[in-house]
Amino acid sequence: MALDVTHILDPLNERQREAVTAPVGNLLVVAGAGSGKTRVLVHRIAYLVEALGASPGGILAVTFTNKAAAEMRGRVERLLEGPARAMWVGTFHGIAHRLLRMHWRDTGLPENFQILDADDQLRLVKRVMRTLDVDEQKWPARQAVWFINSHKDEGRRAKDLPAADHDVFGTIHRDIYEAYEALCNQRGLVDFAELLLRSHELLLTNDDLRSHYRRRFRHLLVDEFQDTNTVQYAWLRVLAEAEPDSPLGPGAVWAVGDDDQSIYGWRGAKIQNIHDFQTDFADVEVVRLEQNYRSTSRILQAANALIGNNAERVGKNLWTDAGLGGPILVYSGYNDLDEARFIADRTQRWIEDGGTPDDVAVLYRSNAQSRVIEEACLKLDIPYRIYGGVRFFERLEIKNALAYMRLVSQRHSDVAFERVVNTPPRGIGGKTVDAIRSLARASATSMWQASKDGIANGAFKGRAATAVGAFIKLIDDIAGVAENVPLHEIAEHCIETSGLMAFHSKEGGERGMARKENLDELVTACRQFGRGLVLPVEDSGEEYSQASELDEFLDQAALESGDYQSGGPAVQMMTMHSAKGLEFPLVFMAGMEEGLFPNTRSMREPGRLEEERRLAYVGITRAMRQLYFTYAETRRMNGMQSSNWPSRFLDEVPDACLEEVRMGGAVSRPFRVKTDNGVDDRDDHGGLRIGQTVRHAKFGEGIVLQAEGGGERTRVQVNFAKAGSKWLMLAYANLEVLT
Ligand code: ATP
Ligand code: MG
Repeated sequence: MALDVTHILDPLNERQREAVTAPVGNLLVVAGAGSGKTRVLVHRIAYLVEALGASPGGILAVTFTNKAAAEMRGRVERLLEGPARAMWVGTFHGIAHRLLRMHWRDTGLPENFQILDADDQLRLVKRVMRTLDVDEQKWPARQAVWFINSHKDEGRRAKDLPAADHDVFGTIHRDIYEAYEALCNQRGLVDFAELLLRSHELLLTNDDLRSHYRRRFRHLLVDEFQDTNTVQYAWLRVLAEAEPDSPLGPGAVWAVGDDDQSIYGWRGAKIQNIHDFQTDFADVEVVRLEQNYRSTSRILQAANALIGNNAERVGKNLWTDAGLGGPILVYSGYNDLDEARFIADRTQRWIEDGGTPDDVAVLYRSNAQSRVIEEACLKLDIPYRIYGGVRFFERLEIKNALAYMRLVSQRHSDVAFERVVNTPPRGIGGKTVDAIRSLARASATSMWQASKDGIANGAFKGRAATAVGAFIKLIDDIAGVAENVPLHEIAEHCIETSGLMAFHSKEGGERGMARKENLDELVTACRQFGRGLVLPVEDSGEEYSQASELDEFLDQAALESGDYQSGGPAVQMMTMHSAKGLEFPLVFMAGMEEGLFPNTRSMREPGRLEEERRLAYVGITRAMRQLYFTYAETRRMNGMQSSNWPSRFLDEVPDACLEEVRMGGAVSRPFRVKTDNGVDDRDDHGGLRIGQTVRHAKFGEGIVLQAEGGGERTRVQVNFAKAGSKWLMLAYANLEVLT
């Protein structure tokens, strides 16, 4: 124990200090964005250890993303001036996973159980539906996945669902759920929701383990509490309860959250947990923080006014002494390309003025918005990094490589087997794969084993037999080499020997290049893989199953799919959902349009609309110094062109906070793009496309905004950087196309 805790308490205001130094017990901090909730939680951990003599091994801290968990551990260790390996810091999923790995025997799982990511889960559900002869046209697989996951999030297994004969929807989905569950159990597969559900069941049903963990974890700390779902909440409850014949009493739960930032209702999160916590747990002290340390007062005013439009809230007001700050700038793009160019342009200015790309975040509602913004950044050589979207570990080539690695470690993984048995193509066609699958089913074995048996007893003929034999040998050979080499060499070997590298490079062009680079990056990720970085090896005498480094890596890849990143400073692009908890000096909120944000579905349901508004609140409050709202008058997304009104959220921000900006010179307001033949997008007009950059002898460079007419009468409107917007007759304008 340290006597001097100045370093822990000094950087806090009085209210924060009150929370951090509260006596051991249940406590809830409910406070708005940027008020220091996460900071207070970190300092509480340090205070528990240094001032109250808590053992680091008795502390369990849960946050929302792996990134936040790693950051939290780092900050705690800095405050404590040393590693705190015995402390459990992680996401709910990460911690549940750890429990299952450690106690696989008690959970009914095989030792080498495998995590299914979202994509694997969807494939498996599709397979189940085929076996059950369910028509995928009528019953989309995604809906079935959603059905399964939302019941798991509520703690319900298929057997717990009532047989509702009158409800065809429910009955079919329940059957799928049941068959899916059976298949997962048979193959040792665990999806994300299952991690939580199963570890909760483990604690409920296993008296010894429950008692052990209750005695061990005396302090449970939770960040972003407003986004916990039913199972997570139940999981905390069971851990925190007092052990009947122990003098220790209940564990102390310390939760911080903000009801205004609850944005995962659609995934089962319950804001209600914030209210229930105060009654379900004994003597909860509630602390409110109101000073915001993150944003300028103008940004806060905007956020406060916006969220004031929600009816369902506790109500609180944030203030700051950070000074008024500049207005929030609003840019109306003619289309999404123009919007993207504006964002790239302003980012470049920020960097020229001495900022770094790291300072900048571009937030959007939908991942599909990122592509044009990426392209605009590429043009200006602005480095960027995407969170979410097609995440690193979810990319096609990476999943292929991981499947080889998985097979090397676990031959009986059918998910991996099916993925790469004919990737790259090696003459094992659909028919042969079907045959392998039926063989496997008939003898209740894995596809790997079925292939080997099939070869032995001549089940395959001619070329198929040779090809299957060669595949088996390939994997066995790689595994032979893998035994004594470091992880990154195993990865390299898988990528090269399997022919994956050659296969993906052959695609050529930028895509082939990108795939090749990603595969190289995977090898780097393996090289950098620190064992036990997120799941430190226990030093408290608990058994940790002897998973190989390869298995640990594969688990991490599945769990962490979104968070892997490397490289130098870069603009961060992400959905508003992934921005939770983060902060950036410069923030763009792109696509502020009705139908996109708030999205169309939410506009029909008041509850959902409020959740969209909370999401907007999250977005705005990420900004420290400068915020931009941008929108496009027309946008092409997912192959559809649409014209949208500016988002109602812009109207909900007081005018005094906003200022409209223009790019280049003065512009006239364009009307909707319509050509004579009714085509209304950026198709060719005399070889020009909307969004292209052109040069005019007199007016200089500009971008094509729209075109009308056809043939000789084609008119184009070009926004020239210096001369402003002009309508020109294409036939006489002599435009030079630059991009
Ligand atoms: P969110 O709701 O977005 O998760 P939060 O309430 O968790 O926000 P923090 O991220 O902990 O807020 O803090 C916001 C910013 O304010 C951080 O940069 C933090 O370091 C800073 N901060 C918090 N408290 C203080 C303080 N007392 N003095 C100076 N800076 C502070
Ligand atoms: Mg926080």
